[in-house]
Amino acid sequence: MTQIAKNTTGRKLGLVIDLDTCVGCHACAVACKEWNDGGHMAPLTDENPYGAEPFGVWFNRIHAFEAGPSVQSGCGGDTRTVHFPRSCLHCEQPDCVTVCPTGASYKRGEDGIVLVDEDKCIGCKLCSWACPYGAREYDYASGTMKKCTLCVDRIYNQNLPPAERQPACVMVCPTSARAFGDLGDPGSDVSRRVAERGGVDLMPDLGYQPVNKYLPPRARSAAAASAPLSDAAANADGDPDIGQRLLRWVDRVLSR
Ligand code: SF4
Ligand code: SF4
Repeated sequence: MTQIAKNTTGRKLGLVIDLDTCVGCHACAVACKEWNDGGHMAPLTDENPYGAEPFGVWFNRIHAFEAGPSVQSGCGGDTRTVHFPRSCLHCEQPDCVTVCPTGASYKRGEDGIVLVDEDKCIGCKLCSWACPYGAREYDYASGTMKKCTLCVDRIYNQNLPPAERQPACVMVCPTSARAFGDLGDPGSDVSRRVAERGGVDLMPDLGYQPVNKYLPPRARSAAAASAPLSDAAANADGDPDIGQRLLRWVDRVLSR
């Protein structure tokens, strides 16, 4: 069992993802794949890309959910699509780290980034079973586990201009739905965004304490805010906020 390193600085680097402005273009996923095909965790393999069962290693995957009062009845109406980017949340209590029998998975004390040391990984996949968010990616070509590194080889890269020392996914997002920063600093831009928009943890009841935060979609209108949300409504008794209900719905879908 691997111990989680004590945070030595109070820094908690992570992402804030705005579900209101994400348009599901996949630019972040593609930029992530492109950057990480070289550098720290490279290469990210693609197997049988044009076959019946293509397989590839992606650190960032985008899901789209249709939600609204008429989803269940199937009669059309005031539904909306929620695009949901999913990657490692760099949890404060990551069981993916504690289950690792070799110490390959670790959480850095200086900034909270969760990484895998490929030289120590034996490919047992225990970490992927321990991650409730499906954020681990097994690479069949190398026989090792891979995951989002928060672009650790960009954010400290002295060869890049300061403005480019951000994760590739953040740099490329056309709607600025992704932001990077120190969520351990209440005065940082990302912390302010979370406070202003009521940012939330994904599946907080599991106790992993994700560092990444999601900003819920805004209600389009007062009517939409109070309308029942089919699947979501079943789990959202008395919750007046459409964004929170959508997020619960997304939570439930991901946890199936
Ligand atoms: Fe580990 Fe999954 Fe949390 Fe990332 S999201 S730190 S892989 S438990
Ligand atoms: Fe550790 Fe690798 Fe096994 Fe994951 S697959 S638990 S990183 S040895």
